Amino acid sequence: MDLKNIRRQFPALGRLAGGKKLVYLDNACSVLKPRKVIRAVSHYLSALGACAGGRSGHLLSAAVEELCHEARAKTAAFLGAETPSEIIFTSGTTEGLNLAAKCFPFTKAKNEVVLTAFDHHSNLLPFLEEQKRGRVKVRIAGLEGGWQLGADRITSLIGPRTALVSLPLASNVTGQAFGLEEVVRQARRRGAVVLADAAQYLSTNRVDVRAAGIDMLAFSGHKLGGPPGTGVLYCRSGLMRRLGNFKVGGGTVLDVVLKGGLPEARYFADCRRFEAGIQNYAGIIGLGAAIDFLLETGIGLIKERTSGLAALCRARLAGVEEVELLGPPQAPASPIVAFSFRNPKTCAQDFNIFLNNELPRHFICARCGSHCAIPLHRSRGVKQSLRASFFVYNTESEVRLFCDALGQFLESAA
Ligand code: PLP
Repeated sequence: MDLKNIRRQFPALGRLAGGKKLVYLDNACSVLKPRKVIRAVSHYLSALGACAGGRSGHLLSAAVEELCHEARAKTAAFLGAETPSEIIFTSGTTEGLNLAAKCFPFTKAKNEVVLTAFDHHSNLLPFLEEQKRGRVKVRIAGLEGGWQLGADRITSLIGPRTALVSLPLASNVTGQAFGLEEVVRQARRRGAVVLADAAQYLSTNRVDVRAAGIDMLAFSGHKLGGPPGTGVLYCRSGLMRRLGNFKVGGGTVLDVVLKGGLPEARYFADCRRFEAGIQNYAGIIGLGAAIDFLLETGIGLIKERTSGLAALCRARLAGVEEVELLGPPQAPASPIVAFSFRNPKTCAQDFNIFLNNELPRHFICARCGSHCAIPLHRSRGVKQSLRASFFVYNTESEVRLFCDALGQFLESAA
């Protein structure tokens, strides 16, 4: 697909605000939605609208069940899972990571969790809550100096008591990766499980969970062009059977029997145990369509285009004295470029306002703040950063527009 054709697939790109054209550089937060996803969601809402599964037992629910099953099978194939029943649908990465933290079978002898200084709050906080409950002891691999965090630093914290190592496949602040292969090798050697936060990885990279030795992996549908409120926790089936319950209720049980006057539940052993109640069917079907879009467009092509854009952006910004690029100099795994202003009086938020309001023909959507990674920003003495992130529909001229806008902003602030 050529660029023009790709852009045509995303109706939101045609949006005007006060006659100005949209430049969307907030893809690490959420990717815009392709027509394929919009059609799939709309089909569910307009032509189906019913619950899935055998519980209702009518033709409409059978049709919804089939589409949800297809989406699960597509997701399993996308991740290289052994079976579709290893795919738990969630509301997003956050829910997947909370599920993993809450349900993981920690024991007294194996209760340590290794995290990293780069973790999103959605990975950090669920485990800190478990620490408060006395279930785990959290160890955090900190920065080595500058923005480096190598696998060695993470693996040095893995010991005989380590039950789980949870790390991002790519940082949502710098886009960098952390030597997954070595982490998996050392975790396995010590009998620990690896949980991957793939929120920032899958829109531009492939992963094969079995080949990579990942035991659990969480991602969000909306970061792949799917609907918000959708996501997946992949869990290897041998481990899934050992997880405790998360939310329980309708759809999670094989049977409920009365024992001594009290009901006792016999739960499913697979993903159904974690999908209580009526599900987000429109979202699940839309997520399947987003995966179709990625595969049809070609992750290789997406990767090539977006890393080129990120490299161009970094090269331009590296020449701007007033800003500090965040992250190590090596090319990141994901197309994310974040920077802070060296002068504490220049505020990233003001630049963000400038991007939205002060350009003559465009408004640029990027992101400013600490991107749910406050500990990382604090440890580098950065209060706020401005983040631009790319997807396959972005163009070199958009990158130039963004970098020119920075020059204009700095001039106006001088
Ligand atoms: N993990 C990382 C690395 C992220 O970048 C994000 C979102 O930006 C999340 C987790 C949380 O994702 P969600 O808000 O879709 O649950």
